[in-house]
Amino acid sequence: MPENKILIIEDSPTMRQLISFALKRLPGVRIVEASDGVDGLKKLSTEKFDLILTDINMPIMDGLKLVSLVRGDANYRSVPIVVITTEGAQEDRARALALGANDYITKPIQANRILELAKSLLKNA
Ligand SMILES: [Mg+2]
Repeated sequence: MPENKILIIEDSPTMRQLISFALKRLPGVRIVEASDGVDGLKKLSTEKFDLILTDINMPIMDGLKLVSLVRGDANYRSVPIVVITTEGAQEDRARALALGANDYITKPIQANRILELAKSLLKNA
């Protein structure tokens, strides 16, 4: 079975765990976690991912910066990105989508919404 590799970039360990737990319901997924944008880029440089989920508000490097860097790099340009935003943060969502993110989820996270999005964006799910 083809493996889907998903990178979760989120500074809250609890939130990472929640998202990771939801995505593990999909068959054949492997999940890698990163704690901020810089850590995320480091992990992106070592292996290829099929989907990236990234928080917006993070220390060191935020999600908007990460989205713009990923979209500016020919190696990652086509990897689907979902941003994780807080309720009411319409501006962040609009900016993320303008920078090239494919879609967004809003905290509090709903497992069904994450699964639905992952299925629609992963080629092998
Ligand atoms: Mg955060």
